[in-house]
Amino acid sequence: MEKGLMLVVSGPAGSGKGTVNGRLSKMDGYAFSVSATTRAPRPGEVDGVNYHFISREEFEERIARGDMLEHTSYCGNYYGTPLKEALEVLEEGKNLILEIEVEGAMNVKRLYPEAVLIMLLPPTFAVQEWRLRHRGTETEEVIQRRLARTREELELLGEYDYIVYNRPDCAEDCVEDIRAIVRAERCSLRRHPNAKKAYFEQD
Ligand code: 5GP
Repeated sequence: MEKGLMLVVSGPAGSGKGTVNGRLSKMDGYAFSVSATTRAPRPGEVDGVNYHFISREEFEERIARGDMLEHTSYCGNYYGTPLKEALEVLEEGKNLILEIEVEGAMNVKRLYPEAVLIMLLPPTFAVQEWRLRHRGTETEEVIQRRLARTREELELLGEYDYIVYNRPDCAEDCVEDIRAIVRAERCSLRRHPNAKKAYFEQD
């Protein structure tokens, strides 16, 4: 069976990546990688669904055991991708969505060059700021930190493979764009390095 694609879908705070990835991961052939984090759950977030919410001590133990595919420290908390779960999903042939920030994305790219890196962005920085404020889940201090962080994150935009714009009320279009990217990636010659040989051998 063909293995699934590792899809890194990053986006600054307020980009709407949660909505887009939530919808995508409900589709056939896709699965969401549930990260571990030391940050506190936001209202409505469920342990084991949105994140595995764990203590700093447990997180550090997991890093030491080599249980994390990648991990990072973001705005004062640890975030990481559980390795075993990720590899199992890919082996099942499902496309795995890693909703991770840029440093984690760079680590994934180094470790798994076949991963596809997608940056989801609001149409403008002003729209991002508006969304973040209207979400109403963070304090002003956290909002300021996350907006400042966006400028740093976009320094690495050039390392990504694709950019998808999330226009207001257009999450469904983003889902379709990502599915189109996956379809194109499956036909990419870099994923079929032995195509010519295989073609003639099957005569
Ligand atoms: P939030 O606290 O808003 O849920 O997430 C903060 C940032 O951490 C987001 O950019 C999110 O994509 C990223 N993030 C979530 N899980 C992981 C992970 O497992 N690894 C890394 N590197 N970043 C993550």
